[in-house]
Amino acid sequence: MRQSFKFQLKPNKTQNRHLFECLNLCQDLYNAAIEERLNAYHKWAQLGKPDKWDQWPSRSSQQVELKEAKQLEGLEDYRDLINAQALQEVLRRVNLAYHKFFQDLKKGQVNPPKFKGKGQYKSLTFPQYGKSFRIRDNHLHLSKIGPVKIRLSRKITGKIKTVTIKWEHGHWFAIFSCDKVPQRHIAPSDKQVGIDYGLEHIANFSNGEAIEQPRFLRDMQTQLRLAQRKLSKKKKGGRNRNKQRVKVAKMHSKIERRRADFQHKEVKKIVDQFGEIAFEAHSLQFMVKNKRLSQSTVDRAIGCFKQKLSSQAQKAGRMLVEVSTTDKQGIGNSQRCLCGYVLKKKLSQRTHKCPSCGVEVPRDHMAASIVEYRAFGTAPKWYQYAVGQTVKSPDRAMVAATLCSSTPTFSITRESGDTPVMLETSRISDTDKD
Ligand SMILES: [Zn+2]
Repeated sequence: MRQSFKFQLKPNKTQNRHLFECLNLCQDLYNAAIEERLNAYHKWAQLGKPDKWDQWPSRSSQQVELKEAKQLEGLEDYRDLINAQALQEVLRRVNLAYHKFFQDLKKGQVNPPKFKGKGQYKSLTFPQYGKSFRIRDNHLHLSKIGPVKIRLSRKITGKIKTVTIKWEHGHWFAIFSCDKVPQRHIAPSDKQVGIDYGLEHIANFSNGEAIEQPRFLRDMQTQLRLAQRKLSKKKKGGRNRNKQRVKVAKMHSKIERRRADFQHKEVKKIVDQFGEIAFEAHSLQFMVKNKRLSQSTVDRAIGCFKQKLSSQAQKAGRMLVEVSTTDKQGIGNSQRCLCGYVLKKKLSQRTHKCPSCGVEVPRDHMAASIVEYRAFGTAPKWYQYAVGQTVKSPDRAMVAATLCSSTPTFSITRESGDTPVMLETSRISDTDKD
């Protein structure tokens, strides 16, 4: 299994300048390589020879050119500035961009790769651990740059293949891409859970628990909003504006790192506890339609959370089931009760009070339960218990378990390829629906 590990770098002033010079050089090379390819593409297109498009200039022909160019007089400084393999990686990126472009062309889309403007080229990759880079004594030794202080906050497992040095939000980071990362061994669990993503709580579980967005993140977001307002009032092109811009970038970075740390810990708890995890497909369309939810911060937070959940579940060999946001009848997961009753709720209505079966629970709790129910075909235990007590109909829970008319969409990431076992559900008559 491949995995990447990200750490912060602490270069000194000289190294900092050196890294920026490398980025600028890579950007120039990238643009030059793109230009050559673009010119060739136009030439072949004029001659009506589309089959030649992806043959010349190729990655290897550009590599030869690069080699020759480096021998030219006056370019000695460049040779000492950057590792040769890191430069070749730039050509690999150009090649990838063009490869994608030619694939798009076959589909009828013409979007040639764009030139990178000032500050748009942000990372350089060093291949081959041990040759162009190595880690020793809390320093990342980079060829031609030297030992850069690195904060190794966790253990790197597997075999290091490449490192990418990236400038992000005012900091330098090293991202190690590792191969053969061993799977995490955890105790097997047959517990199921449904997860609903939300605004107040980033995740609501079908067992009634929830992960709250921590206070410090919300506080920081308020501070960020203030800082951004300040930035918008500064004079364009001024020195103060730039200062404020850096401040805002640093805040963004801090929020992102703290959020990532928080999410990693929460996701680990979920994966440790539950063997089968169902979650709602996060539809962007739905979010945009919804004014309060369209905040990009919330969107991104949920996206990151889901990404972490699927990668950690995969690492631990847990099963993941993705359920669509609406069922076959177009009813959203938050608009239905486990008894089958359709209960339309506005976003401001935070409790779900079903007139049919009598349950009263927080809205998000019910939505998460519906997710679990649609994924695994059984109502969560709390519901069977609650309905059995309040409605006193022994069949109610059974009815609930059969009402889900829609088939969930599965995306199973369990590595052994096992399919989830759906419980046999008997159909009830149409008159009982709703
Ligand atoms: Zn109900």
